[in-house]
Amino acid sequence: MFSKEKRDRLQGYPAILCLIMILLPLGCANPGDDRDLIVIRGHTMGTGYTVKIVNKPRMSQEDIGNAEEGIDSLLRTVNQQMSTYIDSSEISRFNLHRGIGWFSISTELAEIIAQSLEVSEKSGGAFDITVGPLVNLWGFGPSEREADIPGRERIRQVMQRTGYRKVSVRLAPPSVRKENPEVYCDLAAIAKGHGTDRIAGYLDSVGVSDYVIEMGGEIRAKGRNHLNNLWQIGIADPDNGLGIQRVVSLSNTSMATSGDYRNYFEHGGTRYSHIIDPRTGEPVTHKLASVTVIHENCAYADAMATAIIVLGPEDGYELALEENLPALLIVRERDSLIEKVTPSFKRHLESYDYGSNL
Ligand code: AMP
Ligand code: MG
Repeated sequence: MFSKEKRDRLQGYPAILCLIMILLPLGCANPGDDRDLIVIRGHTMGTGYTVKIVNKPRMSQEDIGNAEEGIDSLLRTVNQQMSTYIDSSEISRFNLHRGIGWFSISTELAEIIAQSLEVSEKSGGAFDITVGPLVNLWGFGPSEREADIPGRERIRQVMQRTGYRKVSVRLAPPSVRKENPEVYCDLAAIAKGHGTDRIAGYLDSVGVSDYVIEMGGEIRAKGRNHLNNLWQIGIADPDNGLGIQRVVSLSNTSMATSGDYRNYFEHGGTRYSHIIDPRTGEPVTHKLASVTVIHENCAYADAMATAIIVLGPEDGYELALEENLPALLIVRERDSLIEKVTPSFKRHLESYDYGSNL
């Protein structure tokens, strides 16, 4: 069998309860036929991943085994660089480090921190990897959630350690430093996108030309599917885990979604989502249920989707327009869902041709 479920040997990131995106089998003339499509599945970063490769030219069993091993080992490396759930990872060692001098890290981690700081600047601080202590305080990090929600004074104290301007990074030699030894970074809002980019880089390097990768809702697609159509990706309905809100066609680009509805808890009738507004230190509470962003770089799409969800339906939409970013925002209005779609996203919706895929 070409499909294979792998054990999660990798410690992860906060669990994503379900997939946000659904790789649609639409157009699959013979679903389950594993001759035309190779499917590799596994777990990483507290979530699942699926890689679909068009099997033309035909791959041998050995090639397929090598691809599985290659992806698995790559993701282990990414975790060892970026997971706050592994004490010995580079990011955890930096978080535990109590000095304020330059701390040596890998080039990949330095690039992701640099990209994170760039998105922080663009979003006026809405995206901020230093929210780690707040993520933990609200019970969405590696530590257990406390029975009571945190009070204002506690939040204020923790916020003395947050703020992306407290972190500096350089690429040569790759290193990072913090202004306050207590600063703690959480890369969960960009790492899945980055993991997806890394798998794509690996597949490109071994000459695979048509594939789609999905990791915890982040997608990267290249070439065409096994029926020679664009890859068809479903965006979940935020109020119905199994429903599909929209379908888009993708090729040679990435798509990431952030939602308030997959990872949250309720307390006293209020829903607290895992997305923290760094300006208040509290989980976002506005009506923006889901944000989907398309960009060639999946890490960037991932970070921008999180930034937009923090900014909310108005300011977030403005940011997407300013950046000319294809984005779909799904907003809760009373009992229904309203869509805000940027002009550049409409093109992806329109290119989905139901006729050619049914
Ligand atoms: P995502 O699902 O990509 O939007 O990432 C959400 C995760 O990123 C959360 O579970 C937190 O670990 C972390 N996070 C929460 N709020 C922020 C924020 N404002 N900026 C960056 N990371 C955040
Ligand atoms: Mg994100």
